[in-house]
Amino acid sequence: MQLYNTLSAEERAQLIDEAGKERLTLSFYAYAKIEDPKKFRDELFIAWNALDALGRIYVAKEGINAQMSVPADHFEAFRDTLEAYDFMKGIRLNVAVEQDDHSFLKLTIKVRNKIVADGLNDDTFDVTNKGIHLKAREFNDLLEDPNTIVVDFRNHYESEVGHFEGAITPDVETFRESLPIINEQLQDFKEDKNLLMYCTGGIRCEKASAYFKHQGFKNVFQLEGGIIEYTRQIKEEGIESKFIGKNFVFDHRLGERITDDIIAQCHQCGKPCDNHTNCANDACHLLFIQCDECKAAMENCCSVECVETIHLPWEEQVKLRKGLQVGNKVFRKGKSEALIFKKSGDLPNIPLAKAETKNIRQKIAVKKVLVGKAEHYYSKSKIAQFLVEKELSVGDRVLISGPTTGDQELTITEIYVNGGPCETAKKGDQITFELPFRVRLSDKLYKIEL
Ligand SMILES: [Zn+2]
Ligand SMILES: [Zn+2]
Repeated sequence: MQLYNTLSAEERAQLIDEAGKERLTLSFYAYAKIEDPKKFRDELFIAWNALDALGRIYVAKEGINAQMSVPADHFEAFRDTLEAYDFMKGIRLNVAVEQDDHSFLKLTIKVRNKIVADGLNDDTFDVTNKGIHLKAREFNDLLEDPNTIVVDFRNHYESEVGHFEGAITPDVETFRESLPIINEQLQDFKEDKNLLMYCTGGIRCEKASAYFKHQGFKNVFQLEGGIIEYTRQIKEEGIESKFIGKNFVFDHRLGERITDDIIAQCHQCGKPCDNHTNCANDACHLLFIQCDECKAAMENCCSVECVETIHLPWEEQVKLRKGLQVGNKVFRKGKSEALIFKKSGDLPNIPLAKAETKNIRQKIAVKKVLVGKAEHYYSKSKIAQFLVEKELSVGDRVLISGPTTGDQELTITEIYVNGGPCETAKKGDQITFELPFRVRLSDKLYKIEL
């Protein structure tokens, strides 16, 4: 029985494109009592793998927290796999506003101690004594009330690109840090003020609201389904959005535009911009905001040091990051001396600019795209033959990669198709060109895109 991914992200992306089917990006969570999370995890993997569902999912004894991409035509079948469990009967699935077929490229289900790292000791208070759940319209009404304090329970890099008007936006890097800070700040308002809380999908508020009630807050409210569900409701019912800017999300899109207000700045030049990116240096991967001009000038890097690093030969880069745990740093929280326009503390409610298009499909730059496979190497003439699967042109920067060959980077200076020179090779072409090293049958040809 297959219980883990067998395809790489690139192979998966290619399959999705070839299938040409619409996919839905969605999220959901449920608190429950799960006796055997490992068994639960394996059951889900088998059921979802069969439906071609992908995503990042955490399961624990306390429940499940999932962000996924599901083929649209398997949506009902997918829902059935959830309804098979009593605690997920009638569960609300938050479907993203903007769709991206590549939002997730693997099915990763992890067993954790908790589904949200909240740092709370659940035994000390009643987690079922939650705040009052509010729909979008009710949330808007309560926002108008001068007796209301609204708190953003997300991280600072999330509220930086979008938040509710007038919200307190704690300068924290993790959710667990924010709880004691807010408790301290609001000491004097426990009795008479309305504490209105929100987060991305509602999950962080589920337990936080119980915690604050336990701390003595009398009037605790939470936005049901978070910003994602709020957005859906305001669109469906034509309600005014009191959320300004972008909703940060944890998939390849890194953000969904809710209003066309841009409230953040490029961390490098200071111009209005709310596009997050990850530093192109694999040994850094810092999450930060970068405008298109800075992206071009800095080659998608966060600092001069990182630009220098990515220009080193590949082997040297690998040597440099030996021992570094980069994989986990993809969402490193953007604190860096190099970013002079990175602000901390309270965030403004004033838009700095308007986005030109509502449909910004922001993506992390694809670094390499599979364009072909090695078929033969003529040792005497030093000519390599590849079968092209995606367009390849003279002047393209490519990577030839395989277990024996390693990673060889070069620029294509000539291509021959059927023995004749050619500017651009098309899918299905058998191409040859001179190569100073032998290629193997398992070698793959990637185009490098900056
Ligand atoms: Zn800039
Ligand atoms: Zn960097």
